[in-house]
Amino acid sequence: MGECVFCNEKAGLFRKEHKECRQLFESGKRKIASMVEKSLNDHQWLKDNESQLKEIAIQNFIDKKTLTKVIINGWENAVDMAFEDGILTEEEEVGLVNISSQFSLSQFDLDENGYYTKIVKGAILRDILEGKVPDRININGNLPFNFQKSEKMIWLFRNVDYFEQKTKRTYVGGSQGFSVRIAKGLYYRVGSFKGERVDTQETAFVDTGMLGVTNKHIYFAGENKSFRVRHDKIVSFNSYSDGIGIQKDGVSAKPQMFVTGDGWFVYNLLSNVSNL
Ligand SMILES: [Zn+2]
Repeated sequence: MGECVFCNEKAGLFRKEHKECRQLFESGKRKIASMVEKSLNDHQWLKDNESQLKEIAIQNFIDKKTLTKVIINGWENAVDMAFEDGILTEEEEVGLVNISSQFSLSQFDLDENGYYTKIVKGAILRDILEGKVPDRININGNLPFNFQKSEKMIWLFRNVDYFEQKTKRTYVGGSQGFSVRIAKGLYYRVGSFKGERVDTQETAFVDTGMLGVTNKHIYFAGENKSFRVRHDKIVSFNSYSDGIGIQKDGVSAKPQMFVTGDGWFVYNLLSNVSNL
């Protein structure tokens, strides 16, 4: 006879849980997560109801480890809610920090799905939109960038794939069917030169490296290629789900693409930072 993993009572042959216990467990998790989520704009409420939250956990067979996971899950939903209207406000940021300190959640746990980083990114974008130069990151180790005076690092993307758009010239429609064999060679008649020149754009991988964003430039440093671009030299941006494309000033400038893994952030960052 198997025992129920939730209530430890007999569960029946080849069974390891009661259906009712499983349902209690699942609904308890939902209740707790939504309590946390709801407290984004009213943290006091969650403080006042902490004992109720713990009671729900006990009643619904939620162990300590699971409880922490569920709270983090609710907290992540709150982060999503905070970003729903676009920008993370200062109040929302404070609310999220309050929840995490109430339950002593570690930065490591909060960032398991990248949500802690998302808050930092949100705060950086808010700073920039308010005209402030963000000062929110600490970078370990030396950077391969040669900064100018009074230049401040705002964000560093690591493992960025850098691509350049290259024009590939091909000819189509130029059939060789019009050639005639004369002596030992081939002679192409005028008719065979009707082929059209077609320029196709090809996106070519160039290098992988770090992409640094300062208040003045973007820097790229890879193993084979390193360069910097002044923000005001960029005339247009292309947004991609996982990165950004830039077009520099000048007729010969080729489109450049950076895959940072986060199109939303890099686009908002680069398109606004030049206003600082
Ligand atoms: Zn049970």
